[in-house]
Amino acid sequence: MTRIALYPGSFDPVTNGHVDILRQALALADKVVVAIGIHPGKTPLFSFEERVDLIHATAVAEYGPEEAARIEVIAFSNLVIETARTQGAAYLVRGLRDGTDLDYEMQMAGMNGTLEPEIRTVFLPASPNVRHITATLVRQIARMGGEISAFVPAPVREPLRRRAGSGN
Ligand code: ADP
Repeated sequence: MTRIALYPGSFDPVTNGHVDILRQALALADKVVVAIGIHPGKTPLFSFEERVDLIHATAVAEYGPEEAARIEVIAFSNLVIETARTQGAAYLVRGLRDGTDLDYEMQMAGMNGTLEPEIRTVFLPASPNVRHITATLVRQIARMGGEISAFVPAPVREPLRRRAGSGN
């Protein structure tokens, strides 16, 4: 049986925090589906296609081609738990940075568990060296010309500098 984990988020762009959670998810499941939430009305820094490319390039660079082949990236715009069901996921993976994440995620896990009891939410703790990283702050730092190399994986650095610098 192929154990599938769904890892949903914005990944705009993928950060070292996501890399840490994804590494842990790969140890739990045979296949990890990274699900990029698409919100109409919200303009992301990177398009869906760009985010997919950055995740793939990062996965190969960080985990190697064999491990990267166990990752699939999709878009979703409906309920996370619906996406998890249609993908055949046994686990819904969420990363926890702090108590604020926990409070919110406990509510989500409770609601999702009621909607779909067969799918288990799995909380993965952020590793200490990346727990402060959020994509929102990374985008802000990049827009203001700050150094982002400590926060994002190598394949993301140049595209992020270029995009944030272009004012788009
Ligand atoms: P962000 O919150 O950084 O904008 P996302 O919305 O894409 O990122 O988050 C997707 C998932 O990744 C969430 O479960 C979130 O808790 C987790 N995550 C994001 N950054 C980190 C981090 N630094 N450490 C652990 N988990 C993280």
